[in-house]
Amino acid sequence: MSLNDPDSSKQTPQSTSSPSSTSGSVGAGSDEPCASSSAAATSQKRATTLTEYLEANLEALQNEEMFAVIPLKNCPHLKLLRPETCPASINTQTPCSDCGAEVENWICLLCFGVYCGRYVQEHMLRHGTETVDHPLALSFTDLSVWCYGCDAYIDHPALHHYKNLVHLDKFQEPLVWSYGSDLVLDVVNAGASSSSKQKGD
Ligand SMILES: [Zn+2]
Ligand SMILES: [Zn+2]
Ligand SMILES: [Zn+2]
Repeated sequence: MSLNDPDSSKQTPQSTSSPSSTSGSVGAGSDEPCASSSAAATSQKRATTLTEYLEANLEALQNEEMFAVIPLKNCPHLKLLRPETCPASINTQTPCSDCGAEVENWICLLCFGVYCGRYVQEHMLRHGTETVDHPLALSFTDLSVWCYGCDAYIDHPALHHYKNLVHLDKFQEPLVWSYGSDLVLDVVNAGASSSSKQKGD
């Protein structure tokens, strides 16, 4: 059966010789039992695999085992960050400033206030949305950064310093740098663009 596969695709003279007159019968070539059955078997196999894959992932998603949200690589609010105002260390055991909750807390990357997450009493949500220019928050739970201005997770080299402080306190070891060549390119591009500025008259 499988030996016929390469030839069977070429054995459809009707559809290729008269494409205009038999426009409605493009699939007429599937009269051959070998071609149709092997093609159906192939597509059926792929569909089953994809379905199984999606079902497996859907299950993982429902169990929240899979991080399916791809963070934005940049956000306009990153320019609000002032790393020089960042404390030397971050205590991830700090309770929520508003309700004293000790789990699921976030730290504001602008004022370094600690507030609870949306599954507790949403105090970080309130802080991030009601305080002007305090949109960026870092999770003590999974070190993700959420921007309330963009309504999205953000990942950017500028956030590494903050994540590292949380990682140090939480795991007693520094966070591995994961941005690599991207940052080098950014630095090169920034240097090139700034040096290429011409002095106008
Ligand atoms: Zn709270
Ligand atoms: Zn704040
Ligand atoms: Zn943003």
